[in-house]
Amino acid sequence: MSIANLARRVVRALTPYQSARRIGGKGHVWLNANEAPQAYPFTIEGSRLNRYPECQPTEVVNSYAAYAGVNPDQVLVSRGADEAIELLIRTFCEAGEDQILICPPTYGMYAISAETCGVGIVEQPLTIRRQPDWPAIADRLSDVKLVFLCSPNNPTGDLVGRDGLIALLEKARDRAIVVVDEAYIEFCPESSVVDLLARFPNLVVTRTLSKAFALAGIR
Ligand SMILES: *Cc1c(COP(=O)(O)O)cnc(C)c1O
Repeated sequence: MSIANLARRVVRALTPYQSARRIGGKGHVWLNANEAPQAYPFTIEGSRLNRYPECQPTEVVNSYAAYAGVNPDQVLVSRGADEAIELLIRTFCEAGEDQILICPPTYGMYAISAETCGVGIVEQPLTIRRQPDWPAIADRLSDVKLVFLCSPNNPTGDLVGRDGLIALLEKARDRAIVVVDEAYIEFCPESSVVDLLARFPNLVVTRTLSKAFALAGIR
């Protein structure tokens, strides 16, 4: 027997995540990875690398809160937005029972994290106008714990309509968490929905330092 057979069924069945780096290609500007094309000077102060880090680094939390215009107690730091996506699924979804909802075509990691965790996926494709299908999503709210929306959407670039989002947040109150992935919000900061965090306890906004801040490697 190969030890590979000891792995969980969902793990054995997984299709490996095709990161832009794995897909390959030539050159040094990787538009499909959406990385910044160049690194910026960065100094690491290494005198405490022997110590475990704080679970939430206060300076990072406070600085990011000031940058994003939210309160520090609304910020949770993760090792990349991908970790945040998986933490949300692991926190809110029971394996073998619960489901998430995604609106393809969209960022691939929501489905991959769900599969890895044994959590089901409801697909509600974008409409012909490349918007979330609000009525269809509302109809599925009793079946899902988390709704993942991406704004601007990877790969289409569209923003999620604010009125539709607000109506969904109202309907999902006490029923489901709505996650808005703002990995590319630095292209249009005025379109962020962070101001809605104060109104809706079931809203989560994910952000990243990997793209606009050119820090994908710091994870
Ligand atoms: C790149 C990307 C992420 C992941 O960001 P990391 O912080 O590097 O994990 C999340 N969401 C979208 C839409 C992305 O394009």
